[in-house]
Amino acid sequence: MDGTVTPVGAPVLILLGPPGAGKGTQARMLEEKFGMVQLSTGDLLRAAVKAGTEAGRQAKAVMDAGGLVSDDIVIAILRDRLDAPDTLQGVILDGFPRNTPQAEALDLLLAEREQKIDAAISLEVDDAEMVTRISGRYTCAECGEGYHDQFKIPQKPGVCDACGGTDMTRRADDNAETVGSRLQAYHEQTAPLARYYRARGALHCIPAMDGIDDVAARLHAIVTSTRA
Ligand SMILES: [Zn+2]
Repeated sequence: MDGTVTPVGAPVLILLGPPGAGKGTQARMLEEKFGMVQLSTGDLLRAAVKAGTEAGRQAKAVMDAGGLVSDDIVIAILRDRLDAPDTLQGVILDGFPRNTPQAEALDLLLAEREQKIDAAISLEVDDAEMVTRISGRYTCAECGEGYHDQFKIPQKPGVCDACGGTDMTRRADDNAETVGSRLQAYHEQTAPLARYYRARGALHCIPAMDGIDDVAARLHAIVTSTRA
């Protein structure tokens, strides 16, 4: 970062959605369509540590000691990151904020920079349908081909269409109970954030169980409206 460009006023989006809602796919499509940059907390921390910035060094010290990086450090890292010219077309935040205090701290940071949360977009899922989708998945251990109990059954049960292998595996955490509790934890964590952004008129809810392209079209319409 050479400090010659300080992006000001670039749009900031927050993408909310549980694992399996297609957040990653949609973020990549937004990056391609609008030139935005997705910033996930994990990537931000790793990059700052690697770059050896002051905030990055602080984060490293905390992580090396097995601690959780404080909101102040994350905000400092985000502040540095938003100075980079590649954020001029806007950013998509993923994984931050996670709670109301973080949302408030983020608002202060953005206000300093004449930026704001233009939209907090929640990808809304049907929990029962999500459990069916995720818990039905399994893969061929030999070639990695993916199958599903309901949506993609091999022509000959138990035999891989692609390689003829018969060793099918399921991820231990893809069972219905684990998926259900993961969704519940997500809703509990996200509800206060959704209220926070709804109160500020920034919350948009998109049904995320439709096809990827339908979800993308709705998302693109919201992003376009924030740029008008
Ligand atoms: Zn196979």
